[in-house]
Amino acid sequence: MSRKFKYDSIYGPDIRVGILQEQDEIRIELTGEYAISDDSGNELGILNDAKLTLCPADTTPAKLTYHIVAGKADSGQEAEKIAVPNDVTLGPWMTECMGAELDCDATAVEYWRCSKPFFTRQNAEQTRNVLPQNEQMAVITIRREKPLGFVKIIDGISNKLTGRGMLRFVPVLPDINRVTVHDVIVGIEYHWRHLERHHFRGAIEVRVDNAGKLTVVNELPVEQYLFSVNSSEMMSVMPDELLKAQTVAARNTVFATMDKHHHADDFHICADDHCQCYRGSSRETPDSRRLTMATFGLVLTHHGKICDCRYSKSCGGLIESMDSVWHEAPRGYLPSGIDAEPGAAIANFYPCNTEEKAAKYLRQNPECWCNTTIGEIPPYLNYTKPYFRWTVTYKREEIEQYVSKYLGTETGELLDLVPVKRGDSARIEYLKVVAANGEWVIGKEFNIRKALSETFLYSSAFVPEFDFDADGHITTVRLVGGGWGHGAGLCQIGATMMAYKGKTFKEILLHYFPETILVNDTKFASEAQEQEIIKGYDADTRDGERCFEFFNCYGVATCPLMKQGVELIAHEEMKDSFIFEATGLKKGENLPADQTFCKQLIFSGRTATEKNKEKNRKTFFL
Ligand SMILES: [Zn+2]
Ligand SMILES: [Zn+2]
Repeated sequence: MSRKFKYDSIYGPDIRVGILQEQDEIRIELTGEYAISDDSGNELGILNDAKLTLCPADTTPAKLTYHIVAGKADSGQEAEKIAVPNDVTLGPWMTECMGAELDCDATAVEYWRCSKPFFTRQNAEQTRNVLPQNEQMAVITIRREKPLGFVKIIDGISNKLTGRGMLRFVPVLPDINRVTVHDVIVGIEYHWRHLERHHFRGAIEVRVDNAGKLTVVNELPVEQYLFSVNSSEMMSVMPDELLKAQTVAARNTVFATMDKHHHADDFHICADDHCQCYRGSSRETPDSRRLTMATFGLVLTHHGKICDCRYSKSCGGLIESMDSVWHEAPRGYLPSGIDAEPGAAIANFYPCNTEEKAAKYLRQNPECWCNTTIGEIPPYLNYTKPYFRWTVTYKREEIEQYVSKYLGTETGELLDLVPVKRGDSARIEYLKVVAANGEWVIGKEFNIRKALSETFLYSSAFVPEFDFDADGHITTVRLVGGGWGHGAGLCQIGATMMAYKGKTFKEILLHYFPETILVNDTKFASEAQEQEIIKGYDADTRDGERCFEFFNCYGVATCPLMKQGVELIAHEEMKDSFIFEATGLKKGENLPADQTFCKQLIFSGRTATEKNKEKNRKTFFL
């Protein structure tokens, strides 16, 4: 992948999102006109409103190698100084440059110190797992040779089209044209796995992937991608400050992780929980667009680096540190901590890394930001009550079955579950399973949650309890736990409560990501804000909402367009249209709803004076 972004759009740099991977067949539907090309840039024609079925042909998979990462650094020279395991068979060590370059002062590029190649991931992981200090060593994939082959349209048009490497579909009218991709897998590896049909803005590529099968990639400007990443069904009822904080975190996640998790793929970031959930343009809402615009281009940085803003549903009261959850070195802005106001009693449990403390903490119901079981909470958080403290009960045979399935070997009778190491949030980092056929250590938290459940355990913050029969055999296992998710970074339920209690998005971000600074990610982004351009999107907007941005200019005092010094008023000028001009309209003043149905919007920029007013005047067709 190229490290340098393309900055072609006012909506930020283009990012490439992996929608589907390793498929034998892809079904897409083009709405509107699309120009088609292949991997060499050959133009293959134009298609209009077509339903297509695509297949791979004559493919050769990519050649991949797997490497143990001893450490990461900010420069190539620093990377070479990273201490590596004292084992000659792992060398020669090499430095790999990861991450994409942004057009601003903060960077997401890192230099990773990598071992010799292994030819399977399993081999690399097994070798890593027995190295001293392996807890902070990731395993990465590097592509040695690109996959070869063709992508064929086998159904949908009379003249069957074939492209070398890929077929790329670029919308002729990007604001209007959408591609539908069928059978998108949602929730890979989770119990909610199912297929959905999604619509996408921007370009779509169907390409031969590393496995010699097909991958679908969606290329679009990052701010438009965020329009649908930050949306959810509950959006409109949730506090703006929470949604703004989440939008910034989501933008950070894109820049910080891109080209790192999918270093060997033809896209930057995937569309599933592995990287960040993205369900295409049909998930956009007026609110999601408004809130993206309200934080346009804002990212959190730490010592000049783009922060990897992790988040999870509920920390359970104590926040976990980055290095406890993943095979990563600690980061200054992802420490463990207390998810409560300073001085709260829950601080007495922190750090909660012993069995004694964990047992007390998880059996109590302490006051903290994410404890929605006490005090006044908004009704949309009622559903979160069971996740703060929970108990899962298994018959012994059940848990043996789950663990055996996870390990790929029969455990025999379960004799004990022993937490080997806990992080500061009481989450178990390594768990020893003692059974008749042997002992196994499972880690880290993700694997523990997978191993001890048919689907996925809420979190690894639990204490095991056992019932025994008269002969001393375990009959029942109870996992008494707290929290939902890995617990590192932003606690979504906690952040929602913070916003509900009146904290600003900046206060929320600083609480979960200490020592960070908020900056504009691109020079281009500030330029876009200066121009104060925003368009309407008929294609994705339900009837009656076509002028949502215009409506929000008035409906919300903090509207992104209504920057300091700009106040707008509407005059009815001709049928179906309104003219807006800077005036002394009071902030927050509302327009009658019927005036939200307009076709044209004109307003002047914040620097407008009598002299340059004409120049700054913009017209927008909604
Ligand atoms: Zn991913
Ligand atoms: Zn929390």
